[in-house]
Amino acid sequence: MNNLITLVIATANKGKTSEIRDLLKGFPINIKNLADFGPIPEVVEDGNTFDENAYKKASFTARILGLPALADDSGLLVEALGGAPGVQSARYAGEDATDEQRRNKLLSEMKGKTDRRAAFECVISVAVPTGVALTYEARCEGLITTEPAGSNGFGYDPVFYYTPLKKTFAELTMQEKSHVSHRGKALREVRDEFDKVLLWIRQNMPV
Ligand code: IMP
Repeated sequence: MNNLITLVIATANKGKTSEIRDLLKGFPINIKNLADFGPIPEVVEDGNTFDENAYKKASFTARILGLPALADDSGLLVEALGGAPGVQSARYAGEDATDEQRRNKLLSEMKGKTDRRAAFECVISVAVPTGVALTYEARCEGLITTEPAGSNGFGYDPVFYYTPLKKTFAELTMQEKSHVSHRGKALREVRDEFDKVLLWIRQNMPV
């Protein structure tokens, strides 16, 4: 039992934690998230890239708790808007705005634009307390619609049209979406290499 590695998912979000727990089922790890610990200082997500923010969250959590930690950061990049909203995806219409307000802002910025190309990107960082980390990245390409469609998912899903399935992300089931989405792909990359990740954690954890 003392061989079991504890991995902290750097989120308090139950949905994200259970998705990751399900994907890493069968590996000799004990998965926890931030809600399992007392209050810890919040990480400011002020990086210029998803990479920087994911690394910041994972390494900060690992350092504070003295345990290996996994964090993800993601967002939407729209070609005609020069890559916006990008790392600002969650705050595109202001700190306290709703998903619907963010989508409306995006649709109004896109009014009249013929180039509708966009991509979701996700970066996952696995860090140990000394600050070294492994990085996984994935991307999913699509088009921005002219109006929302579908009621599943969250965030920009109703305005992101996934051409191969001829549906927006909000018209896909959770399983269909995770099969093709940026986050699903990045998480499966982590899972496919997880034996190596565990070995790396053991070698890099302070004795
Ligand atoms: P975070 O990485 O969970 O902080 O997500 C950043 C923001 O990007 C979210 O608040 C959403 O606005 C957007 N986003 C990230 N992934 C998705 C997705 O799969 N569907 C829709 N929006 C997403």
